[in-house]
Amino acid sequence: MMRIASVETFIVTVPRETPYLGPLGPGERVNARGYLVRQGNGTIYPTVDRSIVVRLTAADGSMGWGETYGICAPRATCEIINDLLAPVLIDSEVHDVSATWDMLYDLMRVRGCSGGFHGDALAALDIALWDLAGKARELPVRELIGPVVHPIIPSYLSGLPAATLAERVALAQSWQARGIHAFKFAAVVSHEGIVEEMAALRAALGPQAEILIDLHWKFTPDEARALIAQLEPYRPRFIEAPLKPEAMADLAALAAQSPIPIAAGEEWYTAHDVANRLAFGPIAYVQPEMGHTGITQILRIAQLAARHGIAVAPHATIGAGIFLAASLQASATLPGLWKHEWQHSVFTRNLALLHTDMAHDATGYHLPTGPGLGVEPGDAFRAAAELVS
Ligand code: MG
Repeated sequence: MMRIASVETFIVTVPRETPYLGPLGPGERVNARGYLVRQGNGTIYPTVDRSIVVRLTAADGSMGWGETYGICAPRATCEIINDLLAPVLIDSEVHDVSATWDMLYDLMRVRGCSGGFHGDALAALDIALWDLAGKARELPVRELIGPVVHPIIPSYLSGLPAATLAERVALAQSWQARGIHAFKFAAVVSHEGIVEEMAALRAALGPQAEILIDLHWKFTPDEARALIAQLEPYRPRFIEAPLKPEAMADLAALAAQSPIPIAAGEEWYTAHDVANRLAFGPIAYVQPEMGHTGITQILRIAQLAARHGIAVAPHATIGAGIFLAASLQASATLPGLWKHEWQHSVFTRNLALLHTDMAHDATGYHLPTGPGLGVEPGDAFRAAAELVS
């Protein structure tokens, strides 16, 4: 049992030299607020790495840390926490973190707040509550969930941030020389062509390499079918997010016919959401993102996936490393885990912000050993964090 004494929110900003997904492409520019719109998928990204971090302090003085998306309009999420959710939690007794997620979700479920910024706020608090619960019992979060079935979390390399196809192929080869065998490229920045990029990577990396393609929700069903026919000879392990997020029935129909396995789900927030989507039919891989789901919902989504015979390939995104640690803690307990995404350009920077023995090498992610999430913000984190009240 934990009594929550205070809730604080921080915006954590870490500059980066090259924008996420690679240098600016044709027609892309940075606007006055520091955002750019990728022409390949119409999605907006900041030029910095940015996330929201939550610190819960319990009545006994122990602290729990949580994190969620802060890439766009970060003050919106902070306001949902500070004005709406934190006052409900403060001075309450938390007995069961999962039940607390349900209680907080209930506050706004009839007002259309089933995901988005509201879902992100829930995820940050949920992760922080699990961290506190682990610290209270002096156990890693994975031991609270248990049993641990993956002492090392297998991973795939995500993103080849270089300007030209030749440079992206060379980057993949340099990682292959370091023992990496699974690679995902982002079609949004395949300026030379998606099929051309797949063909070049297959030729350079050989028949054994696992190559994945993130299609970033770009296509109509007919376009996706035509693209799949062109890609199939090069044997991608999966294609990700081929259709618009709203195309639930179309995605299931495509997955039923596609000779290439279909992955999706980084933008799905809850098991309610996933259950409604799977009612149309299964896909091959579901990709829950801890920064959206929190630990409570990623576990429920994984249970649903197992019931439908769907592998789990957790997503990894731009953050300070706290929600990544939470995702690894949960992943360690998932029998249906395939591989966890490894955003090498983000993860290396995370380690500079945190006190942790979490690590990554060619075998995968090595879990942090401490209680709770196994990560604590360090001095560099404090320098990058702005308190929002
Ligand atoms: Mg993706």
